[in-house]
Amino acid sequence: MIDYGEKIWMNGEFIDADKATVHVMSHALHYGTSVFEGIKSYFDGEQQIIFRLDEHITRLRQSANTYGWDYEYTDQEIKTTIIELVKMNQGRNLYIRPFFFFGTGYDAIDINENVVKNFIITTWPMNEVPKDNYSLTHSSFVRPPLKVLNTQSKCAANYVNSNSIKVEAQQKGFKDAIALDINGNLAEISAANLFFIKDDILHTPDIECSILNGITRQTIIKIATDLGIKVQEGKYPKATLDDCQGAFVCGTATEMVWVKNLDGKEFDEHIYFTKIWEVFHSILYKQNQQYKEFITLV
Ligand code: PMP
Repeated sequence: MIDYGEKIWMNGEFIDADKATVHVMSHALHYGTSVFEGIKSYFDGEQQIIFRLDEHITRLRQSANTYGWDYEYTDQEIKTTIIELVKMNQGRNLYIRPFFFFGTGYDAIDINENVVKNFIITTWPMNEVPKDNYSLTHSSFVRPPLKVLNTQSKCAANYVNSNSIKVEAQQKGFKDAIALDINGNLAEISAANLFFIKDDILHTPDIECSILNGITRQTIIKIATDLGIKVQEGKYPKATLDDCQGAFVCGTATEMVWVKNLDGKEFDEHIYFTKIWEVFHSILYKQNQQYKEFITLV
């Protein structure tokens, strides 16, 4: 069984995980009305290093605000609680999940002031991500356009699409798949951003291409630029990948993974990936001072 941690912070207090329950009629369960974050804390042998904590906390509120929702807890309260939870569970890499969702009190689909708001934060151990022989295919699913669902919001509703992308890819024998946006441009994989190298430039789909502007994506753009690698964000038709020099994906859970097999074609790791990964890894595990504003030490 997966260990989701002993204590969960729910609506302002730490409680035993088995007491953190909600009503089966919760609005979020029926209609997908919740927003969440995925944050990671790394154990360097002595300390916990939380990666870009402030940015994740900011994005959570923006995700809620996208739909006109908000919660009573301040960003500082959320930060203090996360640090407390990491302290309780330190000694290993942790995944941290703040989650805001609507409960009971509705009598139709619309959320009004009578609908209960819930906020939980939990953390659980996260094992090393397997990075060998990572494979991607192309998805038959597209990412939702803005007027269907805003992919900039980490709303639960978006993740039915992500699940479809991933399950279909796995049924075809691949780890994941690249989905296009509604205009036929490359977007992202199920729950991570895409980068590829072409003409010695590092490319990544533009934020207008129905992607989540990942915090890892933003970090990689910064590291690459600092390393003197030319980075371009753009709208790329699927065929752009045909003559690329390789690709990788990135995200909080995924970290950075080189795509060994891109729809049946094999690629050796490109030097840009190796160089960026070395800096990224030194931020996560070695408190790289050049990027110290990206980490919170616990
Ligand atoms: N796209 C989607 C749809 C995601 O769910 C995630 C994971 N949060 C990402 C990209 C990567 O974002 P981040 O680097 O902020 O984790």
